[in-house]
Amino acid sequence: MKTSKGSTFQADMVFDTTGRVPNTHDINLASIGVETNRGGVIVNDHMQTTVAHIYASGDVVAKTIPRLTPTTTFESLYIADILLGHTTASIAYPAVPSVTFTLPRMAQIGVSTAEAADADEYNVYDINFAQLGMFASHHDTEAKVKIVLNQQKQLVGATLIGDVAPEIVNTLVPIINHKYTKADLNKTIYAFPTPSAMLPMLLMNFLA
Ligand SMILES: Cc1cc2nc3c(=O)[nH]c(=O)nc-3n(C[C@H](O)[C@H](O)[C@H](O)COP(=O)(O)OP(=O)(O)OC[C@H]3O[C@@H](n4cnc5c(N)ncnc54)[C@H](O)[C@@H]3O)c2cc1C
Repeated sequence: MKTSKGSTFQADMVFDTTGRVPNTHDINLASIGVETNRGGVIVNDHMQTTVAHIYASGDVVAKTIPRLTPTTTFESLYIADILLGHTTASIAYPAVPSVTFTLPRMAQIGVSTAEAADADEYNVYDINFAQLGMFASHHDTEAKVKIVLNQQKQLVGATLIGDVAPEIVNTLVPIINHKYTKADLNKTIYAFPTPSAMLPMLLMNFLA
């Protein structure tokens, strides 16, 4: 493979991960005062565009939040709440899980291990899920989990690889969003033996 800078290298596979371009250029949003940039429609923390009574949600919005179906739904439900007068607060995204449906599967939620490496407030721990959760990883010998804890020993992020990663990342959603402690996990019973039960059991060794 040859790069634009002229280097060449051998690769077994090439992934095109160039993303998607917002389709905003030919609908003349500027004529009504709705501003856009390279990332899409500009919105404030209430999902209002630069014309206050016009809102935007989903992939078309210029944002750093992952462009996924559930984040689009979350934004649209938030806008509905604003319009119905149920809230006046800014949009507050919870931790967003995302999955790459490759073989093996990869999943990520919350603070990434890369972000954690750059910040003193986080610690990253490896969980050898294949070895510790043998039955749960279904003999997937490559299954691994990296977790990110803050100084209060709360789970703030995780990166998972393995066939069961998409399912078990969902079990981390409430643990991160509701700042579960070890005591909370002690009071929780999961169906056993299941892949999704195994990770919370292992997390008890790490949480405060
Ligand atoms: C290949 C692929 C795989 C994906 N896999 C996942 C996944 O596994 N999980 C996940 O959560 N997300 C996934 N996504 C992302 C997900 O599809 C989007 O985040 C989600 O659909 C965004 O919803 P939306 O309503 O903002 O946009 P869309 O679903 O794109 O809907 C926008 C609609 O507007 C229409 N439209 C565009 N321009 C105009 C116009 N000028 N006038 C009228 N109508 C117009 C379009 O035709 C389209 O119907 C995937 C995306 C792609 C491309």
